[in-house]
Amino acid sequence: MIVPADAGGIRRAAALLRAGSVVAFPTETVYGLGADAFSEKAVAEVYRLKNRPSWNPLIVHVPDVAAARGLAREWPEVADRLAAAFWPGPLTLVVERAPHLTQVGADTGTIAVRVPAHPVALRLLEACGLPLAAPSANRSEGISPTTAEHVLRSLPDVPLVLDGGPASWGIESTVLDVTGPVPRLLRPGALGLREIREVTGKVLLPEDVADGSARPSPGMSKRHYAPRATVVLTDEVDLALVDGTVGVLTYETADVPGAEILSADPREYAADLYAALHRLDDAGVATILVKSPPDTEEWLAIRDRLGRAAA
Ligand code: AMP
Ligand code: MG
Repeated sequence: MIVPADAGGIRRAAALLRAGSVVAFPTETVYGLGADAFSEKAVAEVYRLKNRPSWNPLIVHVPDVAAARGLAREWPEVADRLAAAFWPGPLTLVVERAPHLTQVGADTGTIAVRVPAHPVALRLLEACGLPLAAPSANRSEGISPTTAEHVLRSLPDVPLVLDGGPASWGIESTVLDVTGPVPRLLRPGALGLREIREVTGKVLLPEDVADGSARPSPGMSKRHYAPRATVVLTDEVDLALVDGTVGVLTYETADVPGAEILSADPREYAADLYAALHRLDDAGVATILVKSPPDTEEWLAIRDRLGRAAA
């Protein structure tokens, strides 16, 4: 059931979370499926509803830096600077996990944490008083939800969805591993690399694993973020291929009826991307031709998601 994210809705959601149930709620990135991060039963329900593979660990959402520190064995100095610069916001930090904590989903010895910037997410964290594990509120491998309606379409059995309107970023958080001497990007996301480098200096990219010591991010499977339709990335959309079974997603003017034309600005493009993929799926096309975005760092997260949608 979808309920408005007003005081009454947040009270109901917090009560469900405290009782070990799950609740979907808005964040500034995408909608999350929240559960008490240290309740085995609640976390198991998240994996079951999403059909998420057990090896893919969950991000834990906390209300402030102090709460994040409390989950860490070691809180590196660079984590402090990143948190001061970007929290609340779409940056997830992977740190060594405090020894008293049980695993959150799959066991890695580390924990991924962030402070979300959405007022509803923050009010919910405060109201329930729990750290919340909250992966995107969709079936595993599917398109992430950017509205409350998207959540129910993908996960009809979620007992409660707090409706806070469309997610403003529309793309998942950037995941950065700060357990090593140099921060390492595990997943490109809403927060850009340029902004991160201004705080940290050098950042290793997922492909920089030459010494073999780096832990890969377990969740970065090849196929992910995928609509039902087959996604085909192309430098030029061939209009001769377009008919009722073929949809088009581009960021340029296209003289194609039903084409989804997104902004040529990466931030605005990201905000609309998943909703556009949902609409193309709803239109029943079998194939979606996607014009490849520019191969520049600003488009890194979008290119990552489109590449996985097409895999
Ligand atoms: P999702 O919750 O679906 O947005 O995905 C969370 C992402 O964070 C996935 O790519 C996970 O593999 C990654 N992640 C979560 N916890 C950890 C961790 N402890 N170490 C490395 N990556 C993690
Ligand atoms: Mg997800």
